[in-house]
Amino acid sequence: MDIKALGETIVLVGSAISTLKQVMDLLPDGSKKAEAQSDLEQAERQLSIAEAQTAEALGYQLCRKHGFPPVIMDSKGNGIWVCPECGDEVDEFEGGFVGSNPMHRS
Ligand SMILES: [Zn+2]
Repeated sequence: MDIKALGETIVLVGSAISTLKQVMDLLPDGSKKAEAQSDLEQAERQLSIAEAQTAEALGYQLCRKHGFPPVIMDSKGNGIWVCPECGDEVDEFEGGFVGSNPMHRS
């Protein structure tokens, strides 16, 4: 499977998971529901890891300040990437942080 197809699959699985969560909310409470919810949370976590790995393989930069899974950064052009969560910037040609948002939340 090529990496682009993998990315599309991840989007599809992600929307399937959010649909399942909505359906789950309609179910009566019980041990089976709790079990299914925890399975779904596990799947969601696995998915975000796969998403980050795919993004990295596609050439996106990842912000590693948020534990696991990392946050996928937005491109500002010219090799500059900015984190949508904490505002940190990274220069992919230098590989280091080029600036930091004073509003950093952590
Ligand atoms: Zn960040």
